[in-house]
Amino acid sequence: MSLNKKSIDDINVKGKRVLCRCDFNVPLKEGKITDENRLVAALPTIKKLIADGGKVILCSHLGKPKGEPKPELSLAPVAARLSELLGQEVKFAADPEVVGPNAKAAVEAMQDGDVILLENTRYRAEETKNGEAFSKDLASLCDVFVNDAFGTAHRAHCSNVGVAQLVDTAVVGYLMEKEINFLGNAVENPVRPFVAILGGAKVADKLNVISNLLEKCDTLIIGGGMAFPFLKAKGYEIGASLVDDEKIDYCKEMMEKAEKLGKKLLLPVDAVCAKSFPNPIDAEIEVSVYAADAIPADMAGLDIGPKSAEEFAAAAKAAKTVVWNGPMGVFENPVLAKGTIAVAKALAETDATTIIGGGDSAAAVNQLGFGDKMTHISTGGGASLEFLEGKELPGVAAANDK
Ligand code: ATP
Repeated sequence: MSLNKKSIDDINVKGKRVLCRCDFNVPLKEGKITDENRLVAALPTIKKLIADGGKVILCSHLGKPKGEPKPELSLAPVAARLSELLGQEVKFAADPEVVGPNAKAAVEAMQDGDVILLENTRYRAEETKNGEAFSKDLASLCDVFVNDAFGTAHRAHCSNVGVAQLVDTAVVGYLMEKEINFLGNAVENPVRPFVAILGGAKVADKLNVISNLLEKCDTLIIGGGMAFPFLKAKGYEIGASLVDDEKIDYCKEMMEKAEKLGKKLLLPVDAVCAKSFPNPIDAEIEVSVYAADAIPADMAGLDIGPKSAEEFAAAAKAAKTVVWNGPMGVFENPVLAKGTIAVAKALAETDATTIIGGGDSAAAVNQLGFGDKMTHISTGGGASLEFLEGKELPGVAAANDK
């Protein structure tokens, strides 16, 4: 599959002001970046724009400042770290309005090959509403727009969609291309058997992806909080486990669909359960294992059990292509991480193409030390899911066609 959008290879940026939307939404602890994968992933595009003599104006959101300046969500630490990673100064254009007098002056003073970073785009209330004023402000800063922020491509905001519509030349960057190609090829032309694994807690959000994946994959494995509405739909007693009753009928439909299509749908056969969710999340916790159809009323399933872990790992090992989104349990707690570890380990050990769909699954794989054993770890959780659902991503659609 190839993306039918113009990329930075199709344009000439020499001497031009290039606004490049990146996804620098990195976790911060006391002003320190605790996971810089997204910064590293953005470097190829930034380096190319520098090498081609563009005036490179980077922008991104960080966290949820909800439309006003929040010093703890300033992108200043990102500018500092990017300077180190690039070996060249990335000037931080501090500006509470993002595109205010300071930012404009900084752009005005740029030479070819210079790099600046604007302040957190979500300091502006219009950003997440795709409001015209901020899109216009951003467009006024640049001649060319590059979108390399896969992580926000499923949203239509000023800094990825609004601005693209106001600039004649709007293209995608290398990271965007790479993400779409990996995910697209895995789903559209998979080397079979193709196994998809879903887990995590955002059950309602993720149910939609099931229907599409069932049509593409050979085996669909469902663990984590996702599994419980399915188990309930089978008539099992699931106690106090995570469940969304409105989705039970949908789960029944999906089980019927799997059967009709002759696809394997694997659900946990046992679960690690506790009386309540750990608080704080890594607190010591007392757990017991129950069969998936016999969870006591006062217990919640918080990880897949050992038999399920073994079955899931075996199915993953038999695959030639695996796409995984969402942990198998509350992996942040060591007692409840065993199912997620078993699956991560199985993927690390296969020579199958392994694609991790971002968000918490990517964090889990990296945290467990299996990151470099995977073929591709997506920088976008929600975006990768919507893409796997078969939806068009607005951030990609807004770029010029080839
Ligand atoms: P994101 O959507 O942020 O990109 P993700 O898709 O990888 O991340 P989420 O749906 O957000 O995953 O779910 C991850 C969370 O699910 C983890 O914090 C984990 O603790 C929680 N989780 C996993 N299994 C269960 C369970 N059985 N019950 C409750 N929570 C669970």
